[in-house]
Amino acid sequence: MDVKIYEYDAVIVGAGLAGLAAAKELTEAGKKTAVITKLHPLRSHSGAAQGGINAALGKEDSVELHMFDTVKGSDYLADQDAVELMCTKAPETIRWAEHMGAVFSRDEEGNIAIRPFGGQSKPRACYAKDRTGLAVLQAIYEQAFRAGIEVFDEWYCADLLYEDGKAYGVSAYNIRNSEPAIFNAKLVMFATGGHARAYRFNSNAHANTGDSLSIVARHGLPLEDMEFVQFHPSGLGGSGVLISEAARGEGGRLFNSKGERFMEKYAPNALELASRDVVSRAIMEEVRQGRGVGKDGQSVNLDLTHLPKEIILERLPELRELAIAFQGQDMLKEPIHISATAHYSMGGIPTNINCQVQKNAKGDLVEGFYAAGECSCVSVHGANRLGANSVLEALLFGRHAGENMVKALDEGVELKKATKADADRMLEELTRIKTSNGTETVPGLREELQNGMTANAGVFRSKESLEKQLKLIDELLERFKHIRIDDKSNTFNTDLQEALELGHMLEFSKFIVVGALEREESRGGHYREDFPERDDEKFLKHTYAYMDENFNITTEWGEVTLGMFEPKERSY
Ligand SMILES: Cc1cc2nc3c(=O)[nH]c(=O)nc-3n(C[C@H](O)[C@H](O)[C@H](O)COP(=O)(O)OP(=O)(O)OC[C@H]3O[C@@H](n4cnc5c(N)ncnc54)[C@H](O)[C@@H]3O)c2cc1C
Repeated sequence: MDVKIYEYDAVIVGAGLAGLAAAKELTEAGKKTAVITKLHPLRSHSGAAQGGINAALGKEDSVELHMFDTVKGSDYLADQDAVELMCTKAPETIRWAEHMGAVFSRDEEGNIAIRPFGGQSKPRACYAKDRTGLAVLQAIYEQAFRAGIEVFDEWYCADLLYEDGKAYGVSAYNIRNSEPAIFNAKLVMFATGGHARAYRFNSNAHANTGDSLSIVARHGLPLEDMEFVQFHPSGLGGSGVLISEAARGEGGRLFNSKGERFMEKYAPNALELASRDVVSRAIMEEVRQGRGVGKDGQSVNLDLTHLPKEIILERLPELRELAIAFQGQDMLKEPIHISATAHYSMGGIPTNINCQVQKNAKGDLVEGFYAAGECSCVSVHGANRLGANSVLEALLFGRHAGENMVKALDEGVELKKATKADADRMLEELTRIKTSNGTETVPGLREELQNGMTANAGVFRSKESLEKQLKLIDELLERFKHIRIDDKSNTFNTDLQEALELGHMLEFSKFIVVGALEREESRGGHYREDFPERDDEKFLKHTYAYMDENFNITTEWGEVTLGMFEPKERSY
């Protein structure tokens, strides 16, 4: 098949909040920009964000408190310069979104309404009912469209063009007809979102398969802090579909099978609004001790029946519908069953504060390469993200990346010319999968991976469980060489796409497990039963991990940027 080569100033992979924010900046500045996305932009997972977006807008709130809560929430692993930038620019970012047309809910005085979220010392989450992400995504999509962004939707990016420390484009294929192409560009940005699909119980969209992580890692570039996966306390029992923290923010209470409000034991002050890692562990501990509810005893009750009906109907209508649709439980009338669900990835592609990708723990940069949003690790969340800080991060750092890319282009960047041979790696992978004729199936292997990740690298981890998972992943990587896909066609070949995605999931999952094994401490979302304490002396460090062609992973440690808040014990 002939390979077309397109030339651009910038190519962005991902059309969620981060990708669109960058694309809008670049296009408005007159830079020729392509946005590649495997979904229609409005189907990006950003649109599923329910609860809110943080900014210190309340009368009693301050940027300093937002910074403190974020750093404390991160279990002191966040880079404090990045946190400072995010929290300082948050109020302006909300106004920016509002001026673009995002309609936020209002309080009685007509100000943007704010609600409490976990780990916050003051209410700080701005929201549009329980459809915050969608409201913002719609607005930015419309404005980016008006600016004239060029979107290649239903295109799958399969490789990065990278040589001698420089990124100069990506190779991708059109999902509709398998037509391959090279997007040769002066600057490349990855904004591909999260990767919690590696877990059986997860709140993520089907597309959240972390493709860009292994694409980056296959070039010998590092991934940072991958062991830190956030388990959200309230996924619907059995499916993991998210019931936003807004449900607890508005006053929802947690009860075990004995009717005890168990958070009194685990976080006497903050109760249900302790940070997510704390609440998730409390729920799973109750379940482990036999005080769970539901058919299999694997859930606890989230009770909102004491709230006025209007609050639920006005502020949480979507959550109510989800619980009815998936579980037949109406939160107006009865408690709903929830359990911890894999939700968010704190780790990812390491970047500096300007969203430029780093090639090692020292902070040396890859030329021409940027990343922002959930796939990146600028490290504002450290070991645990606070609710409503992530839509903020995607929007703010996406825009920040776009601005920095415009600056770089203005200063002058040479286009390193791509040749058709740059697509060879992708074409070889596509052919290998399409002609595969083994005995293993993609759904079968994926299920084994997901079950294993939830059981062995989930809320509770130990050397034993992690070693078991590592062995399983190595086995699955081997068996993946012997898959068979039945659809050999070129039209909407979802078999092919799912196989590519599984390859990515297997590889980045190995980073999660190796990082978790080497980090012999408990911090934020990473809890080791055999090392239950945080150990700042040894592990107040970022993990940088690298993969070789045989999927062996090696790690090194990187410094955490402190400065404003000294590490303290964290209690809620
Ligand atoms: C159910 C749910 C509720 C949430 N609620 C909140 C909330 O209330 N507040 C909050 O702060 N955070 C929330 N989050 C987290 C937050 O929504 C995300 O972290 C954030 O929106 C991520 O934005 P993004 O732009 O990085 O990625 P996404 O919006 O996920 O976009 C990723 C893009 O990458 C593209 N892509 C991926 N791989 C490829 C590939 N190989 N080729 C081409 N394109 C590719 C996709 O098509 C998509 O366009 C929630 C998350 C979930 C799952």
